[in-house]
Amino acid sequence: MLSKEMLDILVCPFCKTAARMAGEKLACTNPQCLCEYRIEGDIPIMLIDEAKRPCPQCGSQRDYINEEDTLHCPKCGTELKL
Ligand SMILES: [Zn+2]
Ligand SMILES: [Zn+2]
Repeated sequence: MLSKEMLDILVCPFCKTAARMAGEKLACTNPQCLCEYRIEGDIPIMLIDEAKRPCPQCGSQRDYINEEDTLHCPKCGTELKL
């Protein structure tokens, strides 16, 4: 398990909002972002490229567009741009 001290400082690498445990994963608490990061051993993999990036509108996996710092949903077109 991750220590409370570690959880207190973990933020989403995309939007910098606090991340919290959600089952076996860490989930961003920003309702527009919702990215989930898996934990391997005791190490959270805080990489947006490797994250589950569910669309808040339709639940589809969003694409991460690196050059534009944007999450784009291929299904419904919702975008989250930083
Ligand atoms: Zn986030
Ligand atoms: Zn969508």
